[in-house]
Amino acid sequence: MTDLVIVGAGPFGLTLARVLAERGRRVTVVERRGHIGGNAYSSADPDTGIEVHNYGAHLFHTSNQKVWDFLSRFTDWTGYTHRVFTVHAGQVYPLPVSLATINQFFGTSLSPDQARGLIAQQASQDPQDGPGYQVGAGGQAGTGGQSAATSAPTADRHKAADDPSLSLDAKAVRMIGRPLYEAFIRNYTAKQWQVAPDQLPGSVIGRLPVRYDYDTRYFSDPHQGLPCQGFTALWERLADHHLIELRLGEDYLGASATAGPFTKASCSGQVPVVFTGPIDRYFDQSAGPLGWRTLDFEWEHPATGDFQGCPVMNYADLDPAWTRIIEFRHFHPERDYPPDRTVIAREFPRQAGPEDEPYYPVNTPRDRQRLDRYRELAATEPDVKFGGRLGRYQYLDMDMAVASALAMAAEMLA
Ligand code: FAD
Ligand code: UDP
Repeated sequence: MTDLVIVGAGPFGLTLARVLAERGRRVTVVERRGHIGGNAYSSADPDTGIEVHNYGAHLFHTSNQKVWDFLSRFTDWTGYTHRVFTVHAGQVYPLPVSLATINQFFGTSLSPDQARGLIAQQASQDPQDGPGYQVGAGGQAGTGGQSAATSAPTADRHKAADDPSLSLDAKAVRMIGRPLYEAFIRNYTAKQWQVAPDQLPGSVIGRLPVRYDYDTRYFSDPHQGLPCQGFTALWERLADHHLIELRLGEDYLGASATAGPFTKASCSGQVPVVFTGPIDRYFDQSAGPLGWRTLDFEWEHPATGDFQGCPVMNYADLDPAWTRIIEFRHFHPERDYPPDRTVIAREFPRQAGPEDEPYYPVNTPRDRQRLDRYRELAATEPDVKFGGRLGRYQYLDMDMAVASALAMAAEMLA
């Protein structure tokens, strides 16, 4: 017998399982894949021994002390600090936008105050400013974009950069002005999302800081690092509890060939369930599919000890078609990797089909409308809770997934 079934052995599911098991609950974790860790799984490349992140590069960072303390029970951390560069028009710039990027791009030597003044001026005098992203609006929410280019200035023009109704393009222009937006954001975003930037929420770009100094770190969080023995060792330790039963390779929603004894049909109304897979698939996409992006990876083993000189190189222009190249050895400079071999992965985003791994919630206004419908359906199943990035349809980083699982555990125990 089990007290709870958790569907999905990603960071959310494993955190929840661990906290509940430590409080005496018997937990069964059902995972469709043959491994734990969800999209934050990593493994040793068989040819070189280099730890690769099989579902895209994962860097841990948080400002949540509780999350940091919790995960630090299961791993030590390297001092890795993430830095990213981007290629635009044949030049390499540091990203996110900092004083280094601004001065290199404009060929200037501006001080922080001068640079702030320049960006503020470009942001406030933008000729294409239009209305914003309509949070929760219906399917035809075509505001901004082409129409915005010709629309008269409105009160929206005066919205602050942190206004949640701003679309990605409007917010980005407020953050960094149009020239930098067009160089570093517009085309990368087009490749990443294939959705008009006025249909994307501003929060997507709000993930990136803008700095008026020479701090070129990608994240500002006080806690950053990578698990010393790798991500999978961290997830294995988290799952290692005598009250946690892991069932790998079983699809909770699957037909009999792929399912185990724990399925939606067998568990409904019998045992509490926390589902961390895609919420639209749980409901058979009855309100229409939610928009997800997936990634194709092109793996290569160049015969060199250093392919690009940094872990992540972004490509800001439409050509080439990939968004970034990850060179995994640079995540662990402290390790003894082969001096003459490396592993890289080029990332090609595309719309996720029914058989694809859903990676990124797109979150257009139409998606939000459908999500509201799925949340209504979820409310009719009181024994089932939805959690994690896929279950909540939210762009959660690992620390946010863990924080949210800790909160759900506290709520369930109460
Ligand atoms: P997931 O990790 O997606 O786990 C859900 C699990 O549920 C999966 O293992 C899936 O197989 C399983 N599942 C789904 N349906 C079923 C079913 N029907 N039956 C059984 N099992 C099922 N976060 C960071 O903090 N830093 C980063 O640098 C970072 N980079 C990222 C890069 C990429 C390309 C992506 C896609 C995400 C990145 N993230 C990053 C986010 C990170 O992956 C998530 O925060 C984290 O994985 C969320 O954990 P989760 O448990 O909610 O979901
Ligand atoms: N982005 C961009 N250019 C870049 C990097 C990011 O335009 O060089 C935008 C893009 O829309 C992306 C978002 O900022 O989806 C968030 O970037 P982040 O690096 O956090 O994305 P992730 O690592 O989750 O793919």
